[in-house]
Amino acid sequence: MPFADILGHERIVEVLRRSLRTGKTAHSYLFEGISGCGRKKTTLALIQGMFCQSADDDACGVCPSCRKVAGGSHADIHIVEPLPDKRDISIDQLREMQRTLSLRPYEAPRKACIIEPAERMSVNAANSLLKTLEEPPGDALIILLTENAGLLLPTIRSRCQLIRFAPLSPEHILTLLEQSGMDADTASLIAPMSGGSMQKAIELDNESLAARRENVISRLSQMNINKIASVFDAAEALSGNREETLELLDLLISFYRDALHLAAGSGEIVNRSARSAIETIATRRPISRTMELLEAICQTRRDVQRNANPKLALDHLFMNIAAET
Ligand SMILES: [Zn+2]
Repeated sequence: MPFADILGHERIVEVLRRSLRTGKTAHSYLFEGISGCGRKKTTLALIQGMFCQSADDDACGVCPSCRKVAGGSHADIHIVEPLPDKRDISIDQLREMQRTLSLRPYEAPRKACIIEPAERMSVNAANSLLKTLEEPPGDALIILLTENAGLLLPTIRSRCQLIRFAPLSPEHILTLLEQSGMDADTASLIAPMSGGSMQKAIELDNESLAARRENVISRLSQMNINKIASVFDAAEALSGNREETLELLDLLISFYRDALHLAAGSGEIVNRSARSAIETIATRRPISRTMELLEAICQTRRDVQRNANPKLALDHLFMNIAAET
């Protein structure tokens, strides 16, 4: 995955390409961003570009070196991550890394090391890394990946060049999902719910979004304000922890947006396979009421994000939705 193929981080890519071109890459980088936003891809692109002989500021993507980096089998890349049954990265792992970096590279001009997630280094491990970051053995390149640089020791942070990755835009997620072979209908539903993370987008897909969508629609259609238990039951069944509730609210937002599109005579909807259910939402009430409900759902989403109790927030919202006028 050369830089040329990375979506959505143009400024970062430009800075890194310039540093390759001028031979002024840092010894140590700290890449901060949510998982699934492209930090790892950018890391591999930087290493590929540094190892590949064919261009001065990007990798060719096809030579043996580039293929080994992409395939995770390049002997000059050392990866440090928590061992399978451990929470933290231990000082022993750091010592092993330091020993490996001090050996001559097999085929690349220098060795590279990726530490992920960097915030999981034990304090001892982090302390033992300080000197390595200042003077990497054999001029090695060290890249630390984290979701939150604030969780690292300030002494580690100050020795690395910090690069902050923004979440991907829904448009970029959509493009990446379609490139990965997902059908356009599913991709356009998942992209806005992914929070800018491809990892999240793929998890959403695996959870069988279509089944969840049907469950939500069926619960919504059974709610009746005159049978208040049906409202509370739906809130009970559909709420979960904060994150699950936020996903549910994203789904509701996409339904009501679609309902507004249909009511306004536009066929441009995201939930195409649930069209008849959305039409019911669209035609049951005047358009102004649908807009009010959409705003109420968005407000509930903000409340849940700011720590409102998910179940109580949904009780309140669903009573509002079930009320006919
Ligand atoms: Zn190459």
